[in-house]
Amino acid sequence: TTVPAVTLNNGVRMPQLGFGVYQVPDDETAAAVTTALDAGYRSIDTAAIYGNEQGVGRAIADSSVPRDELFITTKIWNSDQGYDSTLRAFDESLAKLGLEQLDLSLIHWPTPERGLYLDTWRALERLHAEGRVRAIGVSNFEPDHLERLVATSTVVPAVNQVELHPALQNRATIAANERHGIVTEAWSPLAQGAVLGESSVIAIAVRHEATPAQVVLRWHLQQGRVVIPKSVTPSRIAENLDVFGFELAADELAAIDALERDGRTGPHPVEFN
Ligand code: NAD
Repeated sequence: TTVPAVTLNNGVRMPQLGFGVYQVPDDETAAAVTTALDAGYRSIDTAAIYGNEQGVGRAIADSSVPRDELFITTKIWNSDQGYDSTLRAFDESLAKLGLEQLDLSLIHWPTPERGLYLDTWRALERLHAEGRVRAIGVSNFEPDHLERLVATSTVVPAVNQVELHPALQNRATIAANERHGIVTEAWSPLAQGAVLGESSVIAIAVRHEATPAQVVLRWHLQQGRVVIPKSVTPSRIAENLDVFGFELAADELAAIDALERDGRTGPHPVEFN
């Protein structure tokens, strides 16, 4: 499978589908990432708080895939926000991953009560200018946070990674991303499985001889978003990548749009500090 790429606002190409490792224990992470790399994934999404950067690093070191074909993302955790602490946290993540350069570094949450995301961003801008990370972005930023960041910064975030799936479609944030040329990346793209039993999703899957997970991933991909589904089950890891051989029709996309409800699985970005 060749995964299409999206071009970020700084020209860097990012695979449209990657592998997420949230909640994968460090000692199981290398095996899961190795399975994903063998299946054909080239983009891996981790975070300092996941505690499994070392496992990701081990899989990268053991893999025969050349480094320049990989796209590795990690994130600055809330308690590391601030200029100096971000520089330190970045170095620690890079050391754990065993890498000299990162592809994408994200501010994990805006944590507005801390009031530090602009300082954190200055540190990422510096790391980017030094060539230590190819692209910088944010995660869980609401439109207000984005406006404030963009108004006061040199570098516009390349990516905003937000909770996004049929049960939480985050339209205002997507519109804000689009206004600024920021790529939208969907976390929990499958709603952690919560939308896979929907009868409309199952009906569409049957029609395409696909699985519900594949249908939901197509719904994202056809709207130009980046997705990072997670699984530790080899058959599902392969299944989630095998989504480039069919296409949903407009009425099928609309049927999935209609599943919107208050289906948030994670914290609200304004309240999480
Ligand atoms: P997800 O929507 O990818 O769902 C994963 C779960 O769905 C699996 O544990 C499994 O139960 C089920 N599943 C996966 N593939 C399946 C298949 N083919 N068939 C049936 N069930 C299947 O949820 P996630 O792990 O929360 O999100 C994906 C990634 O997003 C994470 O691993 C992480 O990298 C990232 N993430 C980022 C943030 C953030 O704040 N930036 C927060 C949460 C997750």
